[in-house]
Amino acid sequence: MTAPTLILPERSHAMASDLRAAVGVDKVKDDYATLTAYAVDASIYRMAPQAVVLVESEEDIAATVHYAVQRGIPLTPRAAGTNLTGSAIGSGIILDVSHLNQVLELNREERWARVQPGIVLAELNKQLARDKLLFGPDPSSGDMCKLGGMLANNSSGPHTLRYGAVKDNVAALRVCLQSGEWLDAKAYGLSDPNCTNLLKAHRPLCDLQLLLQENAALIAQRRPTVSKNSCGYNLFGLADGLARGCFDLPKLFVGSEGTLGLFSEATIRLVEQPRATLTALIHFHRLEDVGDAVPKLLELSPSALEVMDANTLNLIGRAKHGIPAEAAATLLVELDADDAGPDLRAQAERMTEICRRYRLTSDPVIAFDPEQREQLWKARKALYPTLYRFDPRKKPINFVDDVVVPAERISELIRYLEEFFAEQRVPVAIFGHIGNGNAHIIPLLDVNDQNDFQKMVQGYHEIHQTVLGRFGGSICGEHGDGRVRAGYVRTMFGPELYDLFVRVKQSFDPSGVLNPGIKISDRPFTDHIDYVRLSKPCATCAKCNAVCPIYDVFQSEDMSSRGWFEIVTDKNYSYLNSKRVVEACLNCKSCRTACPAGVDVSQLILDRRAEHPNKMAGVIFRFHAQSARFERFLKFIARYQPMWDRPLMRRLLDHLTKPFMRRLAETARLSPQLVLPRLARRHLRDRYPELILQAGQASRSPVAYFHGCAANYFDDGVGDAVIAVLRKHGVEPDLPPQRCSGTPIETYGHRALAKEGARVNLASLARYDKVVTGCASCTLMLKDYPTLFAGEPEQAAAQALAKRVTHISEFVSQSPVKPAMASSQPTRCKVAYHSSCHLRAAGVTKEPRAILRGLPGVEYVEMPDADRCAGGAGTYLVKDFETSQRIVERKRRAVEQSGAEVVATSCPACMIQLRTGLHGAAEVKHVAQLIQEAYEAADRS
Ligand SMILES: Cc1cc2nc3c(=O)[nH]c(=O)nc-3n(C[C@H](O)[C@H](O)[C@H](O)COP(=O)(O)OP(=O)(O)OC[C@H]3O[C@@H](n4cnc5c(N)ncnc54)[C@H](O)[C@@H]3O)c2cc1C
Ligand code: SF4
Ligand code: SF4
Repeated sequence: MTAPTLILPERSHAMASDLRAAVGVDKVKDDYATLTAYAVDASIYRMAPQAVVLVESEEDIAATVHYAVQRGIPLTPRAAGTNLTGSAIGSGIILDVSHLNQVLELNREERWARVQPGIVLAELNKQLARDKLLFGPDPSSGDMCKLGGMLANNSSGPHTLRYGAVKDNVAALRVCLQSGEWLDAKAYGLSDPNCTNLLKAHRPLCDLQLLLQENAALIAQRRPTVSKNSCGYNLFGLADGLARGCFDLPKLFVGSEGTLGLFSEATIRLVEQPRATLTALIHFHRLEDVGDAVPKLLELSPSALEVMDANTLNLIGRAKHGIPAEAAATLLVELDADDAGPDLRAQAERMTEICRRYRLTSDPVIAFDPEQREQLWKARKALYPTLYRFDPRKKPINFVDDVVVPAERISELIRYLEEFFAEQRVPVAIFGHIGNGNAHIIPLLDVNDQNDFQKMVQGYHEIHQTVLGRFGGSICGEHGDGRVRAGYVRTMFGPELYDLFVRVKQSFDPSGVLNPGIKISDRPFTDHIDYVRLSKPCATCAKCNAVCPIYDVFQSEDMSSRGWFEIVTDKNYSYLNSKRVVEACLNCKSCRTACPAGVDVSQLILDRRAEHPNKMAGVIFRFHAQSARFERFLKFIARYQPMWDRPLMRRLLDHLTKPFMRRLAETARLSPQLVLPRLARRHLRDRYPELILQAGQASRSPVAYFHGCAANYFDDGVGDAVIAVLRKHGVEPDLPPQRCSGTPIETYGHRALAKEGARVNLASLARYDKVVTGCASCTLMLKDYPTLFAGEPEQAAAQALAKRVTHISEFVSQSPVKPAMASSQPTRCKVAYHSSCHLRAAGVTKEPRAILRGLPGVEYVEMPDADRCAGGAGTYLVKDFETSQRIVERKRRAVEQSGAEVVATSCPACMIQLRTGLHGAAEVKHVAQLIQEAYEAADRS
């Protein structure tokens, strides 16, 4: 069945106005930036919508559905947009459920929870972990995907073997039907009066029951024989229900990809967290042995059984991951222990015993410890970054990505695929959940090249046909049909059963507005491929959204890292049509750290800002560049800080500075709630004249301390602590002349000015072996000078400097001197670490934690969300105080949860932000200050 032709209103703005009238002004967006951001998901397709509704209640959902049905406008539900099939994009209205993201009820004893569809899986499991519970299905996209999408796709992951797919873990759903009515979809006993009432009330349910009864034989005959299937509608699960005497409604809606109804909540079944886990890596010499070993390993009841073929191992780099050159395939096995199950050590022995029957390239590597287990998963997790970065033109293309065959025939499938792609001369990765016979096949192709395009079309048909014909398998195990497989659902099930699917669709969605083109469609899979995007570096995987603090707060694709990539690289981009979003980025660089494709969205945004530098910021930074005058001014206001930094005066100041602040940004203000640091009356450089070089004087030390602006101007003890720590390590640093490293200057678009200062720093720091920093942003900026001067004469000097920049925590960790330390307090103090974004981006994550763990009198606690942005981001807490406080809220909860008395960090802006946002929940200190305290305590003792 081809989706019915739907009518779009002539003017999309009319649609948005109608929707605003129906659900509220703030919940509807139809500006250029929003529509551009929502035109993609993680698939190969693009389709721009006409309007986006960010629903906040069931009433909003029903009103939007009602409007779409009345007007015949396509309506696409959407959660995180990480599906790989094009099922969360559409040409009409996108209904985003991300704001419905709460756990509504949790029953620990009975192990179930009522949850809204906008919650991210990782967030859900974090909340459940407090009760030692988890939601079993675990797609690899768990950091970013949301429950609504998982429900609609019947998602699963490596641990499906133990926990099943989503369909096995849902007890009930609240579904908004096309009629606008709400259905409590659970398993009703056929003799239950509620079931009778339901059938009377909802005609489609009545039709469905009849259809199932009349076609029981056909459904049984066409049932997939493999252990996993997400293709078509799950009439098989419903038929099983009827055989048990119940109308198991969740089975229909789970996996229906937004084509039959919209979910506002789900009651999900939970499992106990495993007591312990074993992970093993087994390298096979012969591919054929893998298929033979799988059924035997399955006897151990593993929770996960993953495979990587030889091509995949080559792609990720065997040497890098310690994978023997002769390995034809590698298996990753995981076994969980619960209270009742057998002992893991005994299981490990049985596994080794099984493996002895095969030619392995080395003994199985078995790990029990979480850190070592993580190491074993590293190779598997390295896959996506490798695929995304493989070639600037050849991209991983998901079009045969999710086939399922009988588990024992997986070697045969891999052999067939390897030969197929070798003949096509196409690099490919074949990996997946071998325990279920579910293989992910990701060829690397340049679809803009006619040759590669033909290979894709050929592969699509031949491989799917082979999986169905030769293997009796399924074309879809867990990713859904979407646009990519919709045209093949008929081939998979045959015309008679497909006809039943069509009847189900027509009965539940007679006007065809619910996600048209998905699952039930005759359109070729090549329609709507986003050729332009597939020539760009971003893979639209949304990993960056998972760490973007702005997305965390706004939960809207136009306010997200992935969305911003789309917007700033779009051919219709202009500063005017996108200023709202381009100015919202914090430049925290979290996206850059997370991106498997090596894309730096923050840099692209900075490039765009550089085209429109902020005038007011330019005035300030030019004044700042005149160090002597600027510092005199700062000292002057420092003198009167006790007067102007009082609550009443701060309110007045906020009021008086508003017109001036507005020229920095619409949202900028000097909020009275901002806990300002004490400005120094004597700057750091005044306090350490012995470390200052006179004009023309040669350097006295091999080590320079680049203190940056904050440590110089603030009287917060950080600069003193860094100098004291360096001295304890036998280093008397120079404080060479220096200008602002440039981070805030670039943030406001003044790249030329940032370069001017950077040139001064390059010259000044060139003669030192080591340049020690205390500030996270300075550390990163100095290391990033090669990018600032890319292709310019200064680049070589910038590269040389970048290698010598050392954060104080790195310096202490590497120092051969180990000064005595003691506790500065009579009792042990709980200390947590907030990992500043810029220091993470600079690659410094382990050293501060290791130092804190080693401090006497300190009980180090790793707090939740330690690696998430706190929202300070240089001057962002001035540029948009309200948003910055919404961001820090998560951090406040994390600190409280950890029970930390002190939060250590490495960034002056983070320190201000934490002091403001924690409301006294914990003391805030720089890592260097804690080190200094430990050294001084030892001196005293
Ligand atoms: C790197 C990467 C790895 C992945 N690994 C896996 C994996 O291991 N296993 C796996 O199964 N998948 C995997 N996926 C695919 C994808 O992440 C999953 O399908 C995921 O569950 C989709 O969730 P989402 O929140 O992104 O949904 P979206 O993409 O937003 O939507 C998916 C479908 O759900 C529908 N939908 C969303 N919310 C609702 C609602 N409230 N009511 C009705 N319909 C709704 C949409 O219309 C759409 O049809 C991966 C994707 C990526 C990018
Ligand atoms: S920028 Fe990187 S992390 Fe973000 S969507 Fe693109 S590829 Fe994924
Ligand atoms: S720099 Fe930070 S705020 Fe900006 S897009 Fe990246 S993660 Fe989001």
